[in-house]
Amino acid sequence: MLKNKTINGALGQHFDHLNLDFLVDNPKIIFMESTPSQIQELRSTLGKMEIALGAVDSAIVWTNAEGLIQWCNKSFDRLVGKLHIMILGKELPPLLPLHYDDILVPADKYPVALAMEKKGKISECYECYLSEKVSILEVTSTYVEIELNEPKEISIVITINDITEQQRAQILLQQSKAELEKRVNLRTQELVELNERLNQQNYELQIAKQTAEDSNKAKSSFLATMSHEIRTPMNAVIGMTGLLIETNLDAQQRDFADTIHNSGEHLLNLINEILDFSKLEAHEMQLEILDFDIESSIEEIADILAKPAHSKGIEIATFFHPNTPKYLQGDISRLRQILLNLTNNAIKFTEQGEVIIEVSLESELENSVVLRFAVIDTGIGIPESSQSKLFQPFIQVDASTTRQYGGTGLGLAICKQLVELMGGEIHLESEEGKGSTFWFTVPFQKQINKSHKNHSLGIEHLQGLKVLVVDDSITNCNILYHQLKSWGMVVDVLIQSTDVIPCLLRAIEMGQPYQVALLDMQMPDLDGEQLGIQIKSSKILKDVHLTMLTSLDQSGAARRMLEIGFADYLCKPVRKARLLNSLVDTIAGTPDEQTIIKENLKTKEIRPASKLRILLAEDSPINQKVAVNQLHSLGFKVDVVANGQEALDLLEKVPYDIILMDCQMPIFDGYNASRQIRDREAAPNYKFPKLIIIAMTANAMQEDRDRCLDSGMDDFLSKPVRKEDLARKLDYWNQILSEKGDVNFVPNIEILLPKSYTSEVDDILNDSEVEIDWQYLDEMCSGNNEFKQELLQAYSISMPEHVEALEIAISTKEYINIEHEAHFIKGSSSAIGITGVAKLASLLEENGKNKKMPENTPIFLKKISKDIEQIKNLAQEIGT
Ligand code: ADP
Repeated sequence: MLKNKTINGALGQHFDHLNLDFLVDNPKIIFMESTPSQIQELRSTLGKMEIALGAVDSAIVWTNAEGLIQWCNKSFDRLVGKLHIMILGKELPPLLPLHYDDILVPADKYPVALAMEKKGKISECYECYLSEKVSILEVTSTYVEIELNEPKEISIVITINDITEQQRAQILLQQSKAELEKRVNLRTQELVELNERLNQQNYELQIAKQTAEDSNKAKSSFLATMSHEIRTPMNAVIGMTGLLIETNLDAQQRDFADTIHNSGEHLLNLINEILDFSKLEAHEMQLEILDFDIESSIEEIADILAKPAHSKGIEIATFFHPNTPKYLQGDISRLRQILLNLTNNAIKFTEQGEVIIEVSLESELENSVVLRFAVIDTGIGIPESSQSKLFQPFIQVDASTTRQYGGTGLGLAICKQLVELMGGEIHLESEEGKGSTFWFTVPFQKQINKSHKNHSLGIEHLQGLKVLVVDDSITNCNILYHQLKSWGMVVDVLIQSTDVIPCLLRAIEMGQPYQVALLDMQMPDLDGEQLGIQIKSSKILKDVHLTMLTSLDQSGAARRMLEIGFADYLCKPVRKARLLNSLVDTIAGTPDEQTIIKENLKTKEIRPASKLRILLAEDSPINQKVAVNQLHSLGFKVDVVANGQEALDLLEKVPYDIILMDCQMPIFDGYNASRQIRDREAAPNYKFPKLIIIAMTANAMQEDRDRCLDSGMDDFLSKPVRKEDLARKLDYWNQILSEKGDVNFVPNIEILLPKSYTSEVDDILNDSEVEIDWQYLDEMCSGNNEFKQELLQAYSISMPEHVEALEIAISTKEYINIEHEAHFIKGSSSAIGITGVAKLASLLEENGKNKKMPENTPIFLKKISKDIEQIKNLAQEIGT
């Protein structure tokens, strides 16, 4: 086999050189006369060729011009299945019957005949039926002329290749290619269909998404509408019953009114909770970043909840750990909401003991802090099995219909979502029957440029003083201990009131007496009042300054304590600043009775009538009534208009400080009115100070809030407006205005007088008396005549210098100086209620600003000088 292969390989190479094409290219081969050795060599070569040609796969046949076979190789013998001898001299067609499209090829179309006819080369494929086997043959016939003899010999050389296998492979290939194509097409079709289905699904999803978004929008707007629709009548219910309660009612009527009021409040809380929860679920709750003082915010919360806590006999206290930064930035309303919720729960689920709101520092970076808030109670506690579920919505420990405590089970779920929205976490530790601690962390930014140290006035008076704290609540003792220590006091604590007198006596004996004692009112064995009586009736102890701390705000108690000899009477939870003021007052000078009563009035939140100029724009007569009455009962004066247009007309004439603006009003709504106000203020010749616009609307959603702020309003109160919220808002803006030095502490003065007020100026000029707001001046000096005299003297001494400077500026027409000096005189005069001078100076300032010098300027100056002279005399009279 190996041997054969070698031979085949060698012959193959040889055969390659013997390409029969040369016969076509050189059809006229001339054979030369040869020598015997050459003949021998030729024979040998022919022999080799014979062998070689017999070894190739192709069958080769040589015919003469008549088509009779002259020579053929072995492959041809094998192909036709005949002996060589039986082939030579025969015609080719009977030996090799060829078919074309199943039809036998006739003799005149046989390849030999065709090559003869063409005198060239013909190549074609045929089917051949031999020994019942069908083969496909590739037949190439070549016409050859041999000029060896004369006449020249014509031959046809035929090569035959069996390409059946090749064809079959090709067919198979084609078939599999076709199959593959079919499969590819099928797959492509499937993919196209899948794609179409996906597109369809996508389209359906988009429609579903759009529908969901639409329905979400519809839900939000439904919520907003419902919220508005529910809040508007609720405003009337809560507001009017609130006012009704303050009137003279008999016991039964009061009971009815209280019930309506409480139910209204409860219903409103419920609505707010559901609304908040829906907003959180819809990811529509947005945080607001504002500056705030965390310590006073916490104290405020304890203040708000002190009444419900005390009415259950529970103590409430705040503990702000020392070194915790106070001035922060974040969403204080949401933080307040969380703490109110947790503290409310703590009070609700506690029957005795105390509720503490504790704030401490978790971690601190240069510009930010993480604070830890804990609301700790000594209430019923929560079984461990329920603890993990409580932050889920609508979950309550006792969900039975007979349960003792009301509620929706939404509060904690809202707290959790809000805490997480602010970037913190909330946790619970509780033991059944012992109490619960709900604690959470929240990160805040620090306020830039705000020192984080306490700058409290008067601390220096307390340094090193000895103080004894007496309270049966260890928590309260602990809180007071830290607060007093932080002011540099030397603090001792007693929880047994019966130990107090021996302790005070011992301290005197040792030469280290206590200067102050803070006594709790409600203590077992010996209460604070009895203890106070004993101390004050003791000759040795009577000089100890006593301050009473109480969670019972009894009427008449303040006066009684004063009579016993207490220096002050403070309601718990005592604000740190309030305690500090009280101690400083007690130490630096024992306050008179009036001051104590005044202070106590403060704790009962009866405020002095404010000087703020407030305008209310509200179309609903009921809401007008509610708001006006609330404002009056808070001590504010207010003017009322029924729509935005009326507000704009009035604002042209009167410089109000604050406008409470209803948003939805006929003719001109609150949004448009606010925009118009801001446009007016932006005009270069606008005269009045910037107005504070507070929206009052029953739409409580974030978008409504944004819409208000976008239209130029400063703040937002949602209806129904609670009196306390209104008071807090007005207090806040009052403070801002006073910090800015704006008008609210300037009583009854038109800072810049509109034209319609010129007649008033004429009155001032014609009046020989100086115009002074005595009530304001008295209030400012707290009835202290010496101080009043001091003020007026200082005024009359310092002013002439400025009047002179103003005169010079007027004569030289230096308008900037005119404006500057007149402004100074106006400010100083209005600050102490010298309204006449302030009004004239204000007009001069305005003239300076407008670079005008009207004729009556000298008259103004003369009147101002005359008034100042009169004030000098008045100051002397007060002293006599
Ligand atoms: P609500 O108080 O309106 O039912 P919350 O979500 O605020 O809803 O509270 C869920 C439940 O968690 C309450 O019903 C109560 O069973 C339990 N819970 C909350 N706070 C306290 C607490 N301080 N002490 C005991 N149980 C509490």
